[in-house]
Amino acid sequence: MRVYEYALKTGITRTKEFQRKRLATHAVNVGTKCGHGCTYCSTGAMLRMHSSFRSLGLNPFGNGYAIVDPTTPERVARDARRIQERGTVQLCTTVDAWAPEAQKHGLGRRCMEAILSEPMWNVRILTKNAAVVHDYGLIERHRDRVLVGLSITATPDKSDVLTAVEPNASPIAQRVAVLGEAHARGLRTYAMLCPILPGIADAPEQVDSLVKLAVACGAEEIFTEPINARGPGLKATQDALDSSGFRTEAAAIAQIRRKRNWSSYVVSLVENIQRSVRARTDITKLRILLYPSGLASEDEARIHQDDAGVIWLGKDTARAPPDNAQS
Ligand code: SF4
Repeated sequence: MRVYEYALKTGITRTKEFQRKRLATHAVNVGTKCGHGCTYCSTGAMLRMHSSFRSLGLNPFGNGYAIVDPTTPERVARDARRIQERGTVQLCTTVDAWAPEAQKHGLGRRCMEAILSEPMWNVRILTKNAAVVHDYGLIERHRDRVLVGLSITATPDKSDVLTAVEPNASPIAQRVAVLGEAHARGLRTYAMLCPILPGIADAPEQVDSLVKLAVACGAEEIFTEPINARGPGLKATQDALDSSGFRTEAAAIAQIRRKRNWSSYVVSLVENIQRSVRARTDITKLRILLYPSGLASEDEARIHQDDAGVIWLGKDTARAPPDNAQS
């Protein structure tokens, strides 16, 4: 893994998109390329015009490298003091503050310290790295103000498959164990079951196992999101699975690259997770992040008939009743 350092300008920024997703009002990001190297990562597409890639002569869609800014905590401390309208900061939204290149500089911990040293700020952690456990002591001192989340993308028996698509993230069993430890230590937790890949994690019994894990870890909320059909992530994921010998899983990804099949996959995912959450816990905890633009009209209508837990996103948001995610 080649690691580049690049000085960013932002510290804490407002995020309307994550506010709509009910995740956070603000974001902190510690770089522009995450070293976990997930094949489906959409950050390259989102940040493809960012000056860091041009300046360093790097392909935003490439892999095998990370871009990190070790000075991020200084700007975060400045903004945490300066911003009057405070809320919940997601650490991070486009990279991972506990990825190896960020860990080297203690960026997750130092950003958290900077935010929590000022009143009226909360932090939502989202990571795929079990190293966050080393910061639980700090979180314990602010336990009401921090939500701990590790992305749980499949059940632990799928660890070998996940290694092909999340090559540098912590093994899934470690992520589950560390989320469980957060709960055991009395920390606030939430579940991020995202993305739920077809052929790896979307069968009804697999979805139910994931919800069961989330409930066992004391999740206050359960977020999920279908894999994004746009951008090069799906093709890269299919290729990575294929070249690692996971032909069945690669074929399942190939299937949903067709628009009609993607739409059916989303309908099944919504119905399976609703069923499981209703059976195991409280449906008001469910948050299904859903951009409807790729849905077939009959599938969109079907989901609208029972959209408990669905947060409708994108330009079609106005078509959904304003508070139906809680209904
Ligand atoms: S951990 Fe998140 S930000 Fe990092 S590569 Fe994976 S999907 Fe992208």
